[in-house]
Formats: sequence, structure tokens, C-alpha cells
Amino acid sequence: MDKVLLIICDGLSDRPITELGGKTPLEAAKTPNLDRLVKRGLTGLMHVVDIGIRPGSDVAHLSLFGYDPNLYYSGRGPFEAVGIGMEIKPNDVALRGNFATVDSAFRIIDRRAGRIEHTFPLTRALNDMLIEDTKVYVSVGTGHRAAVILRGKNLNGRISDVDPHKEGVKVRSAYALVKTASAKKTAKIINQFVRRSYQILSAHPLNKKREKEGKLPGNIILLRGAGILPKLPTFLEKYSLKAACIAGGGLYKGIGRLLGMDTIEVPQATGKPDTNIKAKIEAALKTFKTHDFVFVHIKGADVLAEDGDFLGKKKFIEKIDAALSPLVKREDILIVITADHTTSSILKIHTADPVPLLMAGKNLHTDQVTLFGERSVASGKLGHIVGKHLMPIILDFLGRAPLMGA
Ligand code: ZN
Repeated sequence: MDKVLLIICDGLSDRPITELGGKTPLEAAKTPNLDRLVKRGLTGLMHVVDIGIRPGSDVAHLSLFGYDPNLYYSGRGPFEAVGIGMEIKPNDVALRGNFATVDSAFRIIDRRAGRIEHTFPLTRALNDMLIEDTKVYVSVGTGHRAAVILRGKNLNGRISDVDPHKEGVKVRSAYALVKTASAKKTAKIINQFVRRSYQILSAHPLNKKREKEGKLPGNIILLRGAGILPKLPTFLEKYSLKAACIAGGGLYKGIGRLLGMDTIEVPQATGKPDTNIKAKIEAALKTFKTHDFVFVHIKGADVLAEDGDFLGKKKFIEKIDAALSPLVKREDILIVITADHTTSSILKIHTADPVPLLMAGKNLHTDQVTLFGERSVASGKLGHIVGKHLMPIILDFLGRAPLMGA
């Protein structure tokens, strides 16, 4: 056994829900394939970043892959930008953005501009702007999202968000989070860019057309998550494993690329609940011809939980389970299935509850657990681990962990 398939089901775990008879969506879902893998594997619970820490997906993934977020995380912007294929250079500041609708007083009417899509003409109108000595690059993300890169001298990623994360209030001005000239300069450039984005976008033909059709215009770009790309050792350097990444969402492809993983494109992978999980698993199994480690990211459960749709989440988990049938008898691969964090369908947010973890492979121990659920795996043999333990355990199961001592 020298191959690893790591499947991260985003926001898979949840809290008990009265309408589900006090079960979580994972516990309520019929998951025969996951349960078969549990029966021939090991289980446990994992605090992905640390006990009591409520992680964002980006921080959670870094932690799972063994990259201490305290050392390597510097804002989500760079991850998003890499994920949509933008080229980032050292010292560039990258931010995430939303096309949003504001009134002439910059009060936010809709943070997602009526969930505007196909915004390429808008990003093109903003791209390649020069503000002072700084070039601003804008690229289209999924749906209403975009990413922005600032390239110039003396920039700093420690900048507050322009996006107030709610509607009915005014767009915020970015400000420096540290007292340096570079941070002040960066905040000034961001504020100028946001104002100019309003001038350009509110006059843009695409928005004029939307308004005529009674749709909300994407007349401003709200920025958040500023950061400078961290220098990360690659997965190959760190673990001597040739890794590939299969994901629909830009952020996850971005994380894979940052770690030096090859991105395998699966056209039917959308990063949404309508994604084709079967196609992703098939692609992963093919990828083992050339790679040792395949990371598959499945987003849907998190999206549904954040919408409060616990029944949809339960159904989506059943869809994941159905797609896993080719794995049930694959003893030649170490199969690892877990989540990046818990997403509560009631609270509609990520929570710090530990996530269930399942590992199945050849000639490994098993435990008494027979069902894959938040409560059932709590008594599993892997115990309660922290995310940073996951890669060392994987390496040890492969017989590739370094020996401590003589
Ligand atoms: Zn997540």
C-alpha cells in the first residue's frame, strides 16, 4: 500500500437537529459505503486546527496538510487568486472580492449584486488599472466573486476589509492593521480602487442592461481577505509524495497549486451541490497511475449547511456515499475520509466541533466502530487528534514516517 486518497468533504459534520430526530445530517443519511469502509478501517475525531478553534476552509486545509496556519496563513485573498489561475508574484497583495450593488451614497443594497454571473466584461473593465505606482489586476471568480492583485513597491497585506459583510450599511474604507507606511499606502490604493470601480462599473453597458431588465447592477467591487502569498514548501519536498488535487471550487484548487500539487480538471466538478462526485472519484483512481497522493475536495455539504438546508445536506451526503462504491474493496489504497470543519445547519456557520475521521487500508488495525457519524467515531481507535497529526499518521501507515532516535 503506497497510495493515498484523501477525500475532504467540506463542512460534512454538523450538530444534532431536532427535525432529524436529534441526529446530524451525517447520522441521518443512509451511508452504506462509508459504513463498509468504517468496518474495515479505523476511526476517530479530529480537531482540524486545534481544540475550540473555528476554522475557515483555507486555514483548515493548511492544517490538515500539515502546514501550520500560524506560520503560513496570511489572508484568504492569495488562495482565492491562485485558485482562479491568477499569477501571483512575491510581495503582491491579493484580495477576494464580490461584485455588489450600492446606491450613490455607497450604501450596500446587495452584497452579491443579485448573484450576478458571467462578470468577465466587468472584470475586464477594471483590469490593468494603474493607481499611483501600483498595477491592479482583476480576474473573474465563480458567480459574483472576483480576485484582485496589487503589484507595486512597498505593499502590505495587513489591511482591513472594505466589505462590511452585511447589507444596509455603507462600504467601509480599508485601513492599515499595522502602523507601517506600506500598510497605509496599500489601504489608500485599495480605497481608490474601490471608488474607481464604482465610477467605471456604474456606467458599464452590462450594468445598464441589467438595470433595464430589472436586475441589480454589479456596480462596485467589495474587497476582503488581503494577504501576501506565503512561501510554502511543496508537498513533494515535505513528504516525498507526488500529489494531485481534484476540486471544483477555486480556493481548493488554489491550495493544491500552492502546495505544488498537480490540478486534475474534472469538467463536471462544479464546487456546488450539483457536482459530479462519481466523476471525481473515477478521475482520482486514474490519477494513481502517475501520482502517490490524491486530494479530492467535495464542497456541497458545506454550501447546503450554510443555507440552513439540513435535508439537502443529508441528501448530498447520500450522494457522496453512492459515489464511493468503487472504493469499498480497494485495499491497495489508503483511503482517508474526513471534513475540514463542522458546519452547523442551524447556526449556518462553521463551528469548532471536531470532525469525524475514517482511515481504511490494507493490514491496518480496525476498531469496533461500524457507522460513520459524529458520535459513533468518538470511540474509534484513532482517538481524538489534531489536524497536524493527520499527515504523520498517513506517512506512518504507508511505512514512510521518519524514525525518531536510533
Ligand atoms: Zn470548508
